Amino acid sequence: MTLSQGRPYLAIPGPSVMPDAVLAAMHRPAPNIYEGEIVELAAGLIPDLRAVARTKGHVAIYIGNGHAAWEAALANTVAPGETVLVPATGRFGHGWADMAQGLGADVHMLDFGKSTPLDPAAVEAALRADTGHKIKAVLVTHVDTASSVLNDVAAVRAALDRVGHPALLMADCVASMAVDRFEMDAWGVDVAVAASQKGLMVPPGLGFVFFSDKAAQVRAAMPRVSRYWDWAPRANPEQFYQYWGGTAPTHHLYGLRVALDMLHGEGIEAVWARHETLARAVWAACEAWGQGGGTLRLNVANTAHRARAVTALCLPQGGAGQLRKWCETQAGVTLGIGLGMAEPGSPAADDFFRIGHMGHVNAHMVLGMLGAVDAGLKALGLPHGSGALAAATDVVAQVTAGATAGAPASAAAAAAR
Ligand SMILES: *Cc1c(COP(=O)(O)O)cnc(C)c1O
Repeated sequence: MTLSQGRPYLAIPGPSVMPDAVLAAMHRPAPNIYEGEIVELAAGLIPDLRAVARTKGHVAIYIGNGHAAWEAALANTVAPGETVLVPATGRFGHGWADMAQGLGADVHMLDFGKSTPLDPAAVEAALRADTGHKIKAVLVTHVDTASSVLNDVAAVRAALDRVGHPALLMADCVASMAVDRFEMDAWGVDVAVAASQKGLMVPPGLGFVFFSDKAAQVRAAMPRVSRYWDWAPRANPEQFYQYWGGTAPTHHLYGLRVALDMLHGEGIEAVWARHETLARAVWAACEAWGQGGGTLRLNVANTAHRARAVTALCLPQGGAGQLRKWCETQAGVTLGIGLGMAEPGSPAADDFFRIGHMGHVNAHMVLGMLGAVDAGLKALGLPHGSGALAAATDVVAQVTAGATAGAPASAAAAAAR
């Protein structure tokens, strides 16, 4: 017997759960790509994307994933031989650095390990030491999805300003966009990259690069930019047909239209508040499991340094692998593998797992997922503290206590702030 039949739940940190409304919008014949509805629809996406990133700046849409957006951001700003500074806090920080290296950049790494955020003072010291202003850009991962570390992007802007350093501030928001609070303009971010399949709730396949006027000037001074990655035509409404460098990603655009309507219908502040509450419910359960002889451990100790998109955990002696397998085969919920926390193939690789809680998730999904994990720990005989589910429901109950029955979901979420 298995209890996994029923609607499966993919609780990995991307791709995230796709709303039925997004999928339904994509289920239609291909449109004429040269004129009419799809052209107007695409133009209308731009202001709504800007509102999610909290910027009045530009946005270029690419047919590609987050890796494509990484490369696009660099291709427009950093020429071979130029220097980038990369404060890394997990596998994704190193991944973006590797992408820069592949484009011929001189990469200066600041490695802050896998469980703690970047130290703005160390970034400031590196900038101060760069008296010749060779560093062209600082590449910050807002949320490193492998470690679930949340970095303070605004603190890096403050460091740049204190030193008077002209480098561009770039932020990888693939995991955090529409999940964790991100304020591109208020935080002085020059370039932000995102992708469709996490907080934006659309299948993988679209990459987004937001950029400031300052970044546009840096682009204009580049000796050359590869045609496909060049963001200038993509961000220019007059050159609409070239947004795509070929055929438009028609069905992704239909899906994105609906996803943006959902996000703005809820309100971006309410979206952030929902993720905040659900993340705190996950943390409360995980902390309870780790007590009373329990071996489960949250990768990031300080709540202020934890992402609201994903939680990385350690369950030693292969417990993480066993638990993931049990949850998928016995309860229909798939948890994320550990990424970059141990050598691939080493015995420790099965000691880490991740819970994704980004995008189209609500209280019953998260509480159900936590219930499955609780049952799995019991069924597998893995040592764990008790009271996890009560701790999680306490969080949900407390933030919703003031909401009246029957109030619209968006009002309830707003009240949760
Ligand atoms: C998922 C992710 C990426 C990579 O995105 P892909 O679509 O898998 O290429 C990059 N950075 C962060 C922070 C991510 O979460």
